[in-house]
Amino acid sequence: MNSSKLWPCAALPHASLAPRTTLHVGGRAEWLLEPATPEELRRAIVAAREDGHEPRILGGGANLIVDDGVLPGVVITTDRMKRLFRPANAAAWLADDPDGRVAQPSREEGLRFVSWAGTTHQKLLSASVELGWSGLEGLAGVPGHVGGGVAMNAGGKWGGMWDAVERVLVVDERGELVELERAQCQPRYRNGGLGRNVVASVLLRFTLDTLPAVKERAREFLLAKNRVQPVTLWSAGCIFKNPDPSVSGGRTAGQLVDACGLKGARLGDAEISPLHGNFFVNRGNARARDLLALIERARAEVAERTGIVLEHEVKVWRAELDPARP
Ligand SMILES: Cc1cc2nc3c(=O)[nH]c(=O)nc-3n(C[C@H](O)[C@H](O)[C@H](O)COP(=O)(O)OP(=O)(O)OC[C@H]3O[C@@H](n4cnc5c(N)ncnc54)[C@H](O)[C@@H]3O)c2cc1C
Repeated sequence: MNSSKLWPCAALPHASLAPRTTLHVGGRAEWLLEPATPEELRRAIVAAREDGHEPRILGGGANLIVDDGVLPGVVITTDRMKRLFRPANAAAWLADDPDGRVAQPSREEGLRFVSWAGTTHQKLLSASVELGWSGLEGLAGVPGHVGGGVAMNAGGKWGGMWDAVERVLVVDERGELVELERAQCQPRYRNGGLGRNVVASVLLRFTLDTLPAVKERAREFLLAKNRVQPVTLWSAGCIFKNPDPSVSGGRTAGQLVDACGLKGARLGDAEISPLHGNFFVNRGNARARDLLALIERARAEVAERTGIVLEHEVKVWRAELDPARP
């Protein structure tokens, strides 16, 4: 790759990725591109492909293990795409200019937000709660960016991102910005069903409630999570997807890891949380290889004892693999 290459947006060579993830492990990206708009995102993806690399997309890094070492090729972060606004006209949501004055939405249009991919879940949730809009309380305590949340179908037993998604603007495999209706997407458990499309912007629809009611629900969900998750430590949320309850007898992945006596197991500074068997934490100086070895140990022990092969929920970016050449 040409190190003096001109990218169509802000770009950093050899950027450290660990501080951009909630686990705080991993090495550097050969290139980190920082588009600030959906169109810049599109051009960044096209430029990376023209350079021979399928770019990796980084949201809040809250469900990601970045390998140690140097990741070849291009990582694109949505960190600068933080726009959140109310569309004046939902049917023409892509035409709204968030830099300009957005006309006061009508009562019907008013129950919607447009969020670009880099808005944090927390900012979106706070904005909707303050208006007494219900729909995303299930995202309380779930870190990440809206683009990552849509791609991962973030959420849980109290609901999640796709409860509010009406339309999505994506950069498709041809490098074009394409609008998808909700009915064109097949979100499923921890998978937004968007394939290799990259989320640029989303139109979200809410239902009207009262501020105290929405606020109380979000607070209740947050407190419930804080009681059972090691929220003050560096982690990537749940490492494994929960298996089909008909196969696991209703036991979650965390309960299966716990039943193997693995809570508290350590490798260097990587630890299986003593609080939650599906949370693997970085105690300070963990390396990605320690976390990955501990994850593999848990997977192998659960498989040996129960015959259940746990599937990763967390995404792993291997340093030796360029996604353009798997
Ligand atoms: C303490 C804690 C609690 C958590 N609790 C929950 C929970 O209750 N429920 C839950 O579902 N998750 C939970 N998570 C995991 C995480 O919050 C979600 O998976 C979140 O949606 C990840 O979003 P992100 O922006 O950080 O994505 P990243 O971690 O940056 O990326 C995850 C994947 O999404 C892809 N991606 C990112 N942005 C885009 C985009 N714009 N377009 C296409 N693909 C993209 C990435 O390439 C990667 O494959 C938790 C994590 C932590 C640390």
